[in-house]
Amino acid sequence: MKHVIVGNGVAGVTAAQSIVRADPTAKVYIFGEEPHLYYRRPLLWEFIAGQIEQDDVYFRPADWYAERGIHLHMGIRATVLVPLEHRLTLSDGTTVTYDRLLLATGGRPFVPSCQGTGKQGVFTLRTLDDALAIKAYAQRVSAAVVIGGGLLGLETARALRTAGLDVTVVEFAPHLLPRQLDAEGAEVLQSLLEAQGLQIITGGAIQAVHGDERADCIWLQDERVVPGELVIFSTGIRSEVALAQAAGLEVKRGVVVDKQLQTSAEDVLAAGDAAEFEGRVYGIIPPAIEQARVAAANMVAPGSATYTGTLPATTLKVAGAELTSLGESIVDTNEAVQLRHTDFPGGHYRKFVLREGRVVGAILLNDNERVRPITQLIEQGVDVSANSDHLLDDDFDLKSLLQAS
Ligand SMILES: Cc1cc2nc3c(=O)[nH]c(=O)nc-3n(C[C@H](O)[C@H](O)[C@H](O)COP(=O)(O)OP(=O)(O)OC[C@H]3O[C@@H](n4cnc5c(N)ncnc54)[C@H](O)[C@@H]3O)c2cc1C
Repeated sequence: MKHVIVGNGVAGVTAAQSIVRADPTAKVYIFGEEPHLYYRRPLLWEFIAGQIEQDDVYFRPADWYAERGIHLHMGIRATVLVPLEHRLTLSDGTTVTYDRLLLATGGRPFVPSCQGTGKQGVFTLRTLDDALAIKAYAQRVSAAVVIGGGLLGLETARALRTAGLDVTVVEFAPHLLPRQLDAEGAEVLQSLLEAQGLQIITGGAIQAVHGDERADCIWLQDERVVPGELVIFSTGIRSEVALAQAAGLEVKRGVVVDKQLQTSAEDVLAAGDAAEFEGRVYGIIPPAIEQARVAAANMVAPGSATYTGTLPATTLKVAGAELTSLGESIVDTNEAVQLRHTDFPGGHYRKFVLREGRVVGAILLNDNERVRPITQLIEQGVDVSANSDHLLDDDFDLKSLLQAS
């Protein structure tokens, strides 16, 4: 059986590994547009910060692929897919046929339309090549602006600060991490970040990147000017769907997949940031890995594995702060019970969201020991209503509510 995988990111590599484990006789080919072996994107921050070398970001040496009989082709883009003929055309002009195909094409940064984004010094961060370019540019300047105070934006800002730059984060929403944190928690986080030397502007709408050929500052719509010769847009991603769309597959925000990770085309599956499952593109690593494993199982033995979704959980580590947001952490006050505990001096924040007596979401700032039990409470759907008055207490043992497994 010949399996072709488009994309050498975490979804593509995980799927390849799962396929050869399940069927050592399988022929597996990966085509990846980037001219690099698989590397871990989260390590790009440490690379930019100067804490590790380029060699340290790679996770799988060339031997790893070869030893498993996985044929890796780097620097090759898949340009045309013809599902009816089970055929793929590649950027070097060759074609390849497949029995089963996995689209693991990931995502690319989204940059909102605004004047000046084409100037020198304006970047996005997705790939190792982006990180190399940012790092080289950062050595020539002293101030940076990161547009976007989400998870990726804050980590990028911290990396640049560690590299010695003055860094301002500009967030459009009224508070940081609008997708993971509520206003109260964001206030605690912001004060921690400011203490680490980051400057933070919330409610800031960018009007233009200013400068001649090179960026030198940012103009905001309220006429504030933010200095920064290095400007990084961290304003979300879009699934990379071009290949699928041109091939006539069903595409919405991502390539639409069912519970088997099967797309609308026979023998074509999708996983990771490229895939949309039940209306959702996750955009983070744990679902990409889970989806890749299920897709691989179904490539080897169709119908053998089912994907039911991943509890969205993100953990952010910024300058000593550990933030985890789980499930439905941001909800309307009227439709769920929200329990909060704020400890400003200690930099702690704890919030649980309850619906019909069950925990459906949580935010934990600097409260690591509760992450695992609260995740399990959400997954098990335990009715906690009898204990809701004490759930936030420092000495309440959440584990005591878990069902034995
Ligand atoms: C700097 C950074 C840090 C991050 N940190 C975290 C983190 O700490 N935790 C977390 O959960 N998530 C993190 N993420 C998000 C995470 O990296 C993604 O969710 C994950 O990489 C998705 O994996 P993927 O395999 O679907 O896509 P990708 O990793 O994007 O891989 C897709 C690959 O496919 C290639 N490709 C696309 N089209 C084609 C084509 N037509 N032909 C051939 N190749 C193609 C692309 O070049 C790319 O190499 C981070 C992202 C970035 C940018």
